[in-house]
Amino acid sequence: MSDASILSDTDRTTGRDALRKNIQAALALSGAIRSTLGPRGLDKLLIDDTGRTLTTNDGVTVLETAKVEHPVAKMLINASSVQDKIARDGTTTTVLISAEMLNNAWHLVTQGVHPSMIARGYRMAEEFCRTELPTFTIDAAKEDLLVATKTALAGKSHEAMRAHLARISVEAAEIIIDTRSGVTIADPTRVKVLSQSGGVVTDSQLVTGLVLAKKRILEAMPKKIGAGKVLLINGGIERRSMASEMKLKVTSPGILQSFRDKEIEMLMQQVKHLQSLGVTLLACKEGIDDDIRSALNEAGIQAFRRVAREDLDLLARGCGATLLYDVKGATASDLGVFIESRNEMWNGVAHWIVDTEEGGATFIARGSTTDVLGEVERCFADALGVACQLLEEPLLLAGGGATQVALARKLRRYAETIPGREQLAVEAFADALEIIPRVLAENAGLDPINTLLEVVASQSNANDDVSHHFGLDVNTRSPANMIENGVLEPLRITRQAISGATEAAVSILRIDDVLWAKADATAPDLPDMD
Ligand code: ADP
Ligand code: MG
Repeated sequence: MSDASILSDTDRTTGRDALRKNIQAALALSGAIRSTLGPRGLDKLLIDDTGRTLTTNDGVTVLETAKVEHPVAKMLINASSVQDKIARDGTTTTVLISAEMLNNAWHLVTQGVHPSMIARGYRMAEEFCRTELPTFTIDAAKEDLLVATKTALAGKSHEAMRAHLARISVEAAEIIIDTRSGVTIADPTRVKVLSQSGGVVTDSQLVTGLVLAKKRILEAMPKKIGAGKVLLINGGIERRSMASEMKLKVTSPGILQSFRDKEIEMLMQQVKHLQSLGVTLLACKEGIDDDIRSALNEAGIQAFRRVAREDLDLLARGCGATLLYDVKGATASDLGVFIESRNEMWNGVAHWIVDTEEGGATFIARGSTTDVLGEVERCFADALGVACQLLEEPLLLAGGGATQVALARKLRRYAETIPGREQLAVEAFADALEIIPRVLAENAGLDPINTLLEVVASQSNANDDVSHHFGLDVNTRSPANMIENGVLEPLRITRQAISGATEAAVSILRIDDVLWAKADATAPDLPDMD
């Protein structure tokens, strides 16, 4: 079969043409979020298919909500999602740098440099950045944690909320920090988020322990129990539903009743088993039969049902318990321990709070509408992510484009030492990093080129040991020592943004053949490229 007939159902773009279209798509995407970068970034109003609206300043939210069809645009969105997962912040930065790398690559391609040569140069530049970055860092002191989380929230929402959430996120990170293995681990997923509509954002609070909006299964059970053992069941303690699972041949009047008695007896045996193991707290993902509730209470067990799987997982981690499918096979080693378990009414809603040895904390998000709540959750997640990163790797870089400008200056000197055409790619990479100060300036209503020149000049006029601290402070609208001005970013975020952006740009540069299925061969309208 010939090539043409195999591909009869596809539109095919190859070589330079494919690259040009792909780069256009990347630029269209970065153009869509460019205006959200930095504290002076603007909000976007997002509207989904059902007409629901959401205002946000968060690049990754814009991208993940937008219905983007273009495969290359999707690759960039993916890079930004990866950044969000690994570093929690720097998502807009990643996309902007990556798209700019591609834009600059296109200029080289038109001058006859092969994309694979550019890809190689980009990789060299990225490696150079990774080795240089640690020389730019300052050690993060305890009070810097708060400053850096505030930088992460710059431009999001209003000042009171930022200050409040930054403080809470640092507290939360300090609760969940785990140093037992000798290395510091601060895993943000150990903080549970419980959203409650009503109240104002600054009512959001942190509670130590795990909080669930749940009520014990029987009022008669004690509200509060002290230290004890817990069993977690990823199922229920219920009678089987007869209709769906079995056929019973009823030959005499008492048979049904005796069958039911037998089933209850089996459940009662499970209660006895729990008692013999010394269980005092029980949580099940599914139901707990009405007929054994009193028996559980008499056995001294406080019990909760319909507990979400995520919450069971958090409980399992906090208590050191194994999640089992049913009670029957439970052994002493499956149990976990807790310090206290209590039911409390908050604003008329029952809450269950479990304190465990392993800490764990719950962030109670408050806000008047679901949109506000969503924004509170996102801001908290960002701030917590940054706080956790800094506890794990307490190294900071100057923000406001300072680090990118300093890297660009060093990269240009490095480029001079490279004999081949990769030199041009390393220079293009350096130019691409400068998109950050340029867009920060643009969003602050400043002239991007003049501002960049001023920042570069301020770095070259400063002493060598602090030159890389000079960036654009959009609050004062002029170049400044960003460390002194408290605009700080974790090393890990900036490093990951550069690596992720390079990774995406390089994979896009390597594509030289795009096959579009004819059914959706509608490539989106793309901006012109010069
Ligand atoms: P991202 O999604 O990439 O995190 P943001 O919109 O959060 O994008 O913007 C982050 C950028 O804003 C960083 O480069 C950070 O250094 C910069 N920034 C924060 N505060 C200031 C400030 N006061 N002046 C200049 N830049 C700032
Ligand atoms: Mg950010």
